Amino acid sequence: MPHVPPPPSGIVLEYPPCEICGTDAPVPVASRTDLLLGGPMVYTMNRCPGCGVLYQHPRPTAASLAALYPADASYPPYRRATTGEPFLRRFGRHHSLTKRCRLVLRHRAGGRLLDGGCATGDFLAALRAYPGWSLCGLEFSAAAVRYAAASTGVPVIRGQISAAAFATGSFDVVTLWDVLEHVADPRSVLAEMARLLRPGGLLVINQPNTASLDRRIFGHLWVGYELPRHLYLFPPALLRRLLGEYGFREVEQRCLYGSHSVLADNLTYVVEAALGRNQVSRLLGRVFRSLPVRVLTAPYIALLDRLGLGGNLATVFVRTA
Ligand SMILES: [Zn+2]
Repeated sequence: MPHVPPPPSGIVLEYPPCEICGTDAPVPVASRTDLLLGGPMVYTMNRCPGCGVLYQHPRPTAASLAALYPADASYPPYRRATTGEPFLRRFGRHHSLTKRCRLVLRHRAGGRLLDGGCATGDFLAALRAYPGWSLCGLEFSAAAVRYAAASTGVPVIRGQISAAAFATGSFDVVTLWDVLEHVADPRSVLAEMARLLRPGGLLVINQPNTASLDRRIFGHLWVGYELPRHLYLFPPALLRRLLGEYGFREVEQRCLYGSHSVLADNLTYVVEAALGRNQVSRLLGRVFRSLPVRVLTAPYIALLDRLGLGGNLATVFVRTA
């Protein structure tokens, strides 16, 4: 077991084996503090020599982890779309939501859809603009559930996606946008997704791309590790094999959205590691997200995405069994 400093008061760690294959021999690949919220605690992402999954070990218990998700708008997934949002951020959010809708619409024209881990309901609100959909959201943050239900008019249930209170085979599509990496029991979640979907139904999973160029360039500072909130990361071949165990077949895979945002976050982490968090690093962070930089890097980002080396990877599976 790697040396781990004692946790700060209130954070309790646990040491479970890899949930995917049961092997208990974590090989550290990245150690760092919480770059989003700060604090002295060091967390470690490991590779499982048994199956190749990347997993956090040790990791905060479920109760401790809950305290590491700020419920307010300081945590990006819970940041609410408002007219007061800077134009570029609003444009980027809208653009990525449109891409998500189009990905689903390429495979299904309508039906009953569950957005697992829907946060503040942005995707549900975007897909509601298209006819033919009966929508439902599932989310564990009480504040996000209240906001999503009120702002979208779509039913949003509070709960864990590994134990959803829905009938077997009751959905045509389930989407997990940036969710699977956050769960402590991915096998239970995938089994539940297989139960919820009717045969022929679609499962869409978006997660950090472990094959991304950013991961190779930025090493332990790679945004995709997002310690301590990311617990499992799946290399594409492993995800394909694992989903096969639950009766799913891969039908499409692409870098869909977020590559510029991941690159800008990575560059900000590099600057903060070198200069600390101060006015200069904040200014450079804004420069990385500015319109001129977005325009200048657009061809590079497009090439990365085309080559499957972008920051995130979306995979569409169909339930065959
Ligand atoms: Zn394993």
